[in-house]
Amino acid sequence: MVNRSMYRPAVTALSGYVPGEQPPPGKFIKLNTNENPYPPPQPVVDAIKKAADGTLNRYPDATSRAFRCAAAEALNLPGPEWILAGNGSDEILTMLVRGFVGEGEKLRMPYPSYVLYRTLADIQGASWDQINFNDDWTLPGSFTESTENLKLALLPNPNSPSGTILSESEVAKVAEELECPLVVDEAYADFAETNCLGLVGQNENVLVTRTLSKSYGLAGIRFGFLVAHPEVVSELSKIKDSYNCDAISIAAATAAMKCSDWLADNCSKIIATRNRMAHELPKIGFQVTPSHANFVWCRHENISHRSIYDFLKSQQVLVRLMDFGDHGHGLRISLGTDEQNDALFCLLQGHLS
Ligand SMILES: *Cc1c(COP(=O)(O)O)cnc(C)c1O
Repeated sequence: MVNRSMYRPAVTALSGYVPGEQPPPGKFIKLNTNENPYPPPQPVVDAIKKAADGTLNRYPDATSRAFRCAAAEALNLPGPEWILAGNGSDEILTMLVRGFVGEGEKLRMPYPSYVLYRTLADIQGASWDQINFNDDWTLPGSFTESTENLKLALLPNPNSPSGTILSESEVAKVAEELECPLVVDEAYADFAETNCLGLVGQNENVLVTRTLSKSYGLAGIRFGFLVAHPEVVSELSKIKDSYNCDAISIAAATAAMKCSDWLADNCSKIIATRNRMAHELPKIGFQVTPSHANFVWCRHENISHRSIYDFLKSQQVLVRLMDFGDHGHGLRISLGTDEQNDALFCLLQGHLS
């Protein structure tokens, strides 16, 4: 017999985070979860095969040291002690909220942004403090106001669903004004011209998270990491699962960090597609927010987003329909290959004209 009162009240109250749909492979053109439309670099696939032929009977390195050394080198950081590896950056975000925000305390995030953040606070029995973006997706001054029990602030930069970005100096100012640490979630930073890695060495309160799911085309292996002051890394390491990253994903992520030419090439292809979409979608009535990520946030001037979403789904194209109540609604469309985006554009053109 399952009795609801046996769970922690914070758990009973949860509605649970619902990620984008993952239909069986092949059936849909998938433009709904910001995955990379291209396969990962070949050396990564080779490294996975090699790891599978290796010593899988042994536990992996609990600290993912090979990865952290490769990442420190690729990102020009002083050393591996500045990096904490995780089972996707979602796990890193979980560790951060677990480490900094206790029951009854407060987590701050902008809105609309990544909906998972609220779930992480809810799991802790903590509360959250959503600060609405301004209409032009700039951050209002109230984001840095002090409030009782504020323990951590999360800022996706570039933001999802808007694809907008705050400059490094704007983020530095936010971090200086805040009374608590600031996590800059850089899931999409490889698609942008700037990032905040440089701030980590200047201000211990700046913590940057990264993922291999988007720019490296590795959503399937689950690997993300934190870049932070060594003291933060060592403190948070105490609350991670002992073997949070498996041998196969460590091998894959380590190989990926050595593929800087592949990364630059892949990002420039996606940015070229982004420019094309930003140019074409307005021709059929969409307002497109200038994006610094691998997706575009668009709103149609006179046709309901739900009906466009439903039509595309009936044609085997999945995009993300998002409704933020008073704070807007629209479609977040991940950038696919040029062929996929051509197919999307043709369907929309036929449907909307
Ligand atoms: C996709 C995404 C993540 C999650 O990345 P994983 O490494 O796949 O867990 C984190 N933050 C934002 C804003 C994202 O869009």
